[in-house]
Amino acid sequence: MKLAIEDIQIFKTSGEFETNTYRFTIDGITYIVDPGLNVRKYIDDNEKVDVILTHGHYDHICGLPELNIDKVYISPEDSIALTDPTSNLSVFFTEPFSFEIEWYNIDEHFQTILAPGHTPGSRILLFEGVIFTGDVVFSNSIGRVDLYVDKSEHATMRKQMTVTIKHLRELFKTLPQDWYICPGHGEVVTIERLFRLNPFFK
Ligand SMILES: [Zn+2]
Repeated sequence: MKLAIEDIQIFKTSGEFETNTYRFTIDGITYIVDPGLNVRKYIDDNEKVDVILTHGHYDHICGLPELNIDKVYISPEDSIALTDPTSNLSVFFTEPFSFEIEWYNIDEHFQTILAPGHTPGSRILLFEGVIFTGDVVFSNSIGRVDLYVDKSEHATMRKQMTVTIKHLRELFKTLPQDWYICPGHGEVVTIERLFRLNPFFK
């Protein structure tokens, strides 16, 4: 599926977390990527939307109750975060957050890349022209691997992240360098600029 950067709106949500929430329309369906807290400031709650979640962390999903949702897409591994406040980390920051909703497997509906490390089920979402990287890749850094409650998991997550980033580095080299990287936080950049800014992509 083709997607132009000009056709995407970007909103800052979830307060101090400054989560990037994205909105775009394809074939008459409005998609919201990673709705953070107060997404209602930007999205009319009369508007039916489909939600795509790059991963299950609180700051990327806590706007769900504010939206008029048709479908939610998430990876099977991270789907537990919808209903488990420990998995979505909300217990550490705020009121325990959970949201009961039927979810659909993101991999069956979109072009995705498995990108474990920041969470077990993180996904990179690929469109022709635009790539949503969640908290796996930022313009000048990569996501944390130590957000696991169980500290014994940290080493495993770090190893997974190393493999994920190596894979993405090779993949991004093969893609048109003027395609855009839309991360979960921070600046939107072209692939070409990512290779210049991000030490993990040198
Ligand atoms: Zn995250």
